[in-house]
Amino acid sequence: ERARLNDDTMSNEQTFIAIKPDGVQRGLIGPIISRFEARGYKLAAIKLMTASKDHLEKHYEDLSEKPFFPGLIKYMGSGPICAMVWEGRDAVKTGRALLGATNPLASPPGTIRGDYAIETGRNICHGSDSVENAKKEIALWFKEGEVQTYKSALHDWIYEK
Ligand code: UDP
Ligand code: MG
Repeated sequence: ERARLNDDTMSNEQTFIAIKPDGVQRGLIGPIISRFEARGYKLAAIKLMTASKDHLEKHYEDLSEKPFFPGLIKYMGSGPICAMVWEGRDAVKTGRALLGATNPLASPPGTIRGDYAIETGRNICHGSDSVENAKKEIALWFKEGEVQTYKSALHDWIYEK
């Protein structure tokens, strides 16, 4: 079934989306999940996790030389994160579009950051920036059995083919 979906429709691209500690504390898990559901994406994995410094340094290893890196690691470790895998056609690029720009003040209303955040250092959510990085991030945050494979009952109402 998975191979068929992949070959015929490419509707199984996966992205790693995380609600950062500020988003969790501010009660925004529900609203953020709702936007991905309403768009037609399928939830493949979800958990609350307080990430260790080591884990977060791996997650953001490409940014380790940036001046904001220590503050970013502290922020991301300041409480539970809601880690998720969302699946569907073009999930990585469209996931980023749903989140909006890194700087919430540059992110238009209608995007998650544009509706719920003000500062870059408190921008409430994370989304993978490429299919390759999505694979790496999903492998870092989830064990194999934690990511579910199933056909959504809505599949044929969301995808023409
Ligand atoms: N960040 C920051 N200051 C900056 C740039 C980024 O605090 O000047 C934080 C911000 O929380 C951002 C995260 O570092 O979401 C990762 O940065 P990236 O450039 O990857 O942005 P994203 O992919 O999250 O939009
Ligand atoms: Mg990034």
